[in-house]
Amino acid sequence: MHVINPFANTDTIIGICGGGQLGKMLCEAASVWDWKTAVLDKHQDDPAAQMAHRFVQGDYTNYDDVLRFGQSVDLITIEIEKVNLEALLELEAMGKIVHPSPKALAIIRDKAKQKQFFIDQGLPTSPQLLFESKTDILRAIGSDGIEFPFVQKLRSGGYDGRGVAIIKSKADLLLLLDGPSLVEPFIEIEAEVAVIAARNLNGEIKTFPPVAMSFHPEANLVEYLYCPSGLGPALELEATQIAQAAIESLDVCGLLAVELFLTTDGDWLINEVAPRPHNSGHHTIECCNVSQFHQHLLAICNLPLIDPQLHFPAVMVNILGEDGFEGPPKYLGVEQALRMGNVYVHLYGKNITKPFRKMGHVTVANRSINRAIKTANFIKDQIKVIS
Ligand code: ADP
Repeated sequence: MHVINPFANTDTIIGICGGGQLGKMLCEAASVWDWKTAVLDKHQDDPAAQMAHRFVQGDYTNYDDVLRFGQSVDLITIEIEKVNLEALLELEAMGKIVHPSPKALAIIRDKAKQKQFFIDQGLPTSPQLLFESKTDILRAIGSDGIEFPFVQKLRSGGYDGRGVAIIKSKADLLLLLDGPSLVEPFIEIEAEVAVIAARNLNGEIKTFPPVAMSFHPEANLVEYLYCPSGLGPALELEATQIAQAAIESLDVCGLLAVELFLTTDGDWLINEVAPRPHNSGHHTIECCNVSQFHQHLLAICNLPLIDPQLHFPAVMVNILGEDGFEGPPKYLGVEQALRMGNVYVHLYGKNITKPFRKMGHVTVANRSINRAIKTANFIKDQIKVIS
């Protein structure tokens, strides 16, 4: 088995495709253990660029850039799914370690292939119909099994709710997106939950405690996250078992974040998965005995995983760019937030703020989840990102 151990060989370089906040936090975690990282992305001032031992300027969607970058490091991982797949396949064929495997990535990054995979594996998810264009959907309404309300999702390229159209009635058809997409029934959701699983090459699997997510009504992206989820042990166990089955069947080494819907009928459905660190695991940095980033590093190097335990209940708030502002960011109200105590502020270092862009996050730890929620609400009102 071809593995590397950066503790034993301190020259090892972990190559990360993507220089966003997830890459930055991965580099931070690596640096705590004196592990070396290299980051591939377009701009010298991308969040992870300053944090990596080596920054390589290039386009992670470009075959040549990814191939060259991969050849210069010992192990390749990703912080975003859009990485050039052909180059990753080529690197793997050349004997490089690539985690997650390009095979799993090819399934996951196409929402339709991903869903079909879960259906074939007998894992719970909603049914789908596939369409090439907006016009095809309009043509199929009323005939081909499409009924209101429904949800349209672009097969690839969507993130943070972009690429998802919720169509409740005829009037919403204006919101339909163009491009290859899937259509699934609108689900009456009781709770949105995420479970992050980790797996190494030996097949060892560990899961983080489930988290509940609440969404920003306008931006359609995660606004608050709660851990413990409040669902109770029986439901949490069910969600955890689905996440374990998902990472096993996809044969992923590293992290797999599994987003689930608990329906009002009490059923679980997998919404989508991501084979990398995830927004729903940021609280693990301060509130667990192992962070999602450290666990990812252990998993991709086939080192023993740590059994995640929650030290403190946590509420995580995403800090989004204020509506109406675009340009170099200014952060207001951070001092007031810090004074609350047990408040951990992360600012990602993006050089431009835009409406609803994820600019940072804050984790609030408190033995009482209700007090943590109160503090998180206060912080949400205090911290503003303007330009
Ligand atoms: P993204 O990949 O951009 O995060 P998601 O597939 O997670 O997109 O969808 C974003 C949000 O839209 C979900 O978290 C959920 O709140 C809502 N949503 C997605 N699919 C459905 C559905 N079938 N029924 C109801 N709401 C949905």
